[in-house]
Amino acid sequence: MDGTSGFLKFGTGYFVIFLFLIFALGILYFFNPSIHIAQRMAPLPTAENPNFLNQVNQCFIAVASVYGYDLRITAGFRSMAEQAQIYQQGRTVDGHIISEAAPGHSLHNFGYAVDVADRVKGYNINWTRLISIASYCHLESGGTGDLPHFEYRGGLTTDQFLLGLRPSPLTLPCPVMADRSATGTPLTLPDLKACGAPKF
Ligand SMILES: [Zn+2]
Repeated sequence: MDGTSGFLKFGTGYFVIFLFLIFALGILYFFNPSIHIAQRMAPLPTAENPNFLNQVNQCFIAVASVYGYDLRITAGFRSMAEQAQIYQQGRTVDGHIISEAAPGHSLHNFGYAVDVADRVKGYNINWTRLISIASYCHLESGGTGDLPHFEYRGGLTTDQFLLGLRPSPLTLPCPVMADRSATGTPLTLPDLKACGAPKF
C-alpha cells in the first residue's frame, strides 16, 4: 500500500510540473516578443489598414513617382463576401478564374494588400524595379503570378491573420516622406539621396 501511495505522489508531482510547464509555455507564447504582434484577436476589418495605406501612399507610390511611375490603386480592401464572390467566378459561376484565394486567404481581406497599375502605361511597366521600390518600403510583392499585388504580412502566415494576429506597424524608411505628404509636395530624388536610399 505504501508502494501505491508513493507511486501516486510521484505521479501527482509530475502532473503538477506538467501543468506548470503548459502554463509557462502559454505565458511565453502570449508575450513572445519575437512574434511582434500589434493587436491580438483583432476583429475583421471593414477597410484598408491606415498604417499600411500610409506606407503605400507616402513611400511606395511616392518613391515610384520619383522614378517615373504614375501608380494608382486598382484594388484595396475586400470583404469576405466580396472575396467569396470573386473566388466563385470561374468555379461555380461563369467567367475566367480571377482569384486563387478563397475568402480569408487573401491579405486584401485584412486590409494589408493593394493591387496597382500605372495610369498611363497600365501593366506594361518595369515590375522588377517596382518590386525593389516596394521592398525598400517594407512591402512584399505578389510575385510573378500576381505582379500588380503588393502586401505587408510582417512574417505572419495568412492563417495567423485569420486567427486575429496582426503585424507590427510599418515605419517610413525616410522621415521626410511624412512631411512631403503632409505639405502635399512631391518627394524628390535629392530627398531620397539625403535619406541614403539606394538608386532604383
Ligand atoms: Zn491583390
